[in-house]
Amino acid sequence: MADDVNTLPFFYGNITREEAEKYLLAGTGSGLYLLRQSRNYLGGYALSVSNSGQCFHYTIERHPNETYAIAGGKKHRSPVDVIDYHSQEMDGLVCLLKTPCNRPRHMQPKVGPFEDLKEKLIREYVQQTWNLQGTALEQAIISQRPQLEKRIATTAHQQMPWFHGTITREDSELRLLNGSRTNGKFLIRQRDGKGSFALGLLHKGQVMHYRIDRDKTGKLSIPDGKKFDTLWQLVEHYSYKADGLLRVLTETCVRPEGETDMSSSDHPGLGHTLQNAANGVFHLLKKIPTLDRHKGSRYGSADRVNTYESREATNRASSNEAMPMETEVYESPYADPDELKSSTVLREQLVLEDGELGSGNFGTVMRGIYKMRKSKKPVAVKILKNSDNDPSMREEMLREANVMQQLDNPYIVRMIGICEAENLMLVMELAELGPLNKFLQKNKQTSMKNVTELVHQVSMGMKYLEEHNFVHRDLAARNVLLVTQHYAKISDFGLSKAVAEDQTYYRAEAHGKWPVKWYAPECMNYFKFSSKSDVWSFGVLMWEAFSFGQKPYKGMKGNEVLLMIESGQRMESPVNCPPEIYELMKTCWIYRVEERPAFTVIEPRLREYYYDIAQ
Ligand code: ATP
Repeated sequence: MADDVNTLPFFYGNITREEAEKYLLAGTGSGLYLLRQSRNYLGGYALSVSNSGQCFHYTIERHPNETYAIAGGKKHRSPVDVIDYHSQEMDGLVCLLKTPCNRPRHMQPKVGPFEDLKEKLIREYVQQTWNLQGTALEQAIISQRPQLEKRIATTAHQQMPWFHGTITREDSELRLLNGSRTNGKFLIRQRDGKGSFALGLLHKGQVMHYRIDRDKTGKLSIPDGKKFDTLWQLVEHYSYKADGLLRVLTETCVRPEGETDMSSSDHPGLGHTLQNAANGVFHLLKKIPTLDRHKGSRYGSADRVNTYESREATNRASSNEAMPMETEVYESPYADPDELKSSTVLREQLVLEDGELGSGNFGTVMRGIYKMRKSKKPVAVKILKNSDNDPSMREEMLREANVMQQLDNPYIVRMIGICEAENLMLVMELAELGPLNKFLQKNKQTSMKNVTELVHQVSMGMKYLEEHNFVHRDLAARNVLLVTQHYAKISDFGLSKAVAEDQTYYRAEAHGKWPVKWYAPECMNYFKFSSKSDVWSFGVLMWEAFSFGQKPYKGMKGNEVLLMIESGQRMESPVNCPPEIYELMKTCWIYRVEERPAFTVIEPRLREYYYDIAQ
């Protein structure tokens, strides 16, 4: 995994170029260097180096394929590798990197104003957009952090008080000249739908207008100026440095209406601007009326940002790109007790549709619609085939329902209820795209990032099971169902058991029809099942996912697999599987239960890797 840059003694975080120079020039000799966060390149770094009393700065860009390079230079796995390389090879640098310029004692890397507020912005965004609370909110943030960060970073300007939307040049002048006429007072407006903006800046009582254009790669800049990924980075930069403008940006010209709690400022500048934004942003979103783009009239009645957001969300929800929270099955169906009062589903509330979703020993799974009081819900209905001959099938299905009823997590298929009618029916949330293994077999172009995202979600669901003392006992890619290409849920609780609080495992009375290739040695040898044996199965599930739905231990019989495991051998890495992932699989296959990590360890490790490649 990419090194954690924050722990490097020569990483300073979000300091400016001038601050970097101060540190470097206080040292002696050439080749003294430090690393800092890039202030214009999202996810990138800057390398500052001194040579003969002068400082030089290089941007280390982060590429989508998780490599780092000084613009146009050789690619490396991490910023540290870039530094190691340039301590041996100048390759375009002014000198070799000789000595790290470490942070003064007790100084932590500086957290940028946006970084600092990102957490708050993300939380409020998720809360307000999807109306989530508690665990559902936390889980949404954990599973979708990279996507949310990107959305916040690229849309944060809409929420900043200095962003006035699509107003005319004349309007922007009126706003800047209204009230205080402090030099450096500024606002940004949108010029057209192609992502070009304008900066209005008050200078000696006059309004100056600077165009902000977006180039082909999406970067924003004032003509001939420095390029930025986001508007807030641009504002941050010009707030500490004029860099070609007539003066630095000092005071925010606050967007009118609803902004009483963020009126400008005893301490102007971006830190304050951002703080204001975070304090009032979503509050503001609710209040801002429409900026009518066509007629130039200022305000209409609808809520501009929310309308835009919800339209965008609807579009996304109907596409494969939807985040889990944008689907109907993220939030708990039990959240509204008026809708789901009991676990009994009346037959007249259920419409079975044509078309089978799947089948198994017990019978078939059909698509259906569950009619509730206020709304309708698409569901999957597991229908028990005639059980007259075998009452144990009925008992088995009721046992499965009993387990499912006790579970409530976004990454687990939830039960809606049981319906006793022409047959016994188990009504569940619908996961339309079906089993993970089949999906990946058919969609081999699915990116590693996407596979990691799904597998990480499974680990989140399993961590929940572990915390609630349930063992799944049939964890496999075939039992992970997809709601969308970016949303997985664990299903099939037919073999699952609740483990007594004072026990760590469940002991089966006898060997059954078991998925041997997914079972840990203690399951086979001692019939002992625990969350740790689920971890073993999770390793096999990872192997299946990263081999795009291949069968594990292909061509081998159950007892051959057992012998192979006992002899210390494990499956080889799937082709093109990232080494970090294969390492994690192998830790899931540690023979001794006590040494095998729990899901509380596996999930954060996968999370870290996922964030690393997804940023
Ligand atoms: P058995 O219980 O006999 O082992 P099984 O494991 O195949 O059978 P399930 O996994 O519960 O039984 O269901 C069979 C198939 O039905 C699944 O592979 C899947 O294709 C489909 N299916 C089950 N539940 C759902 C659901 N909630 N949403 C969509 N499809 C589903």
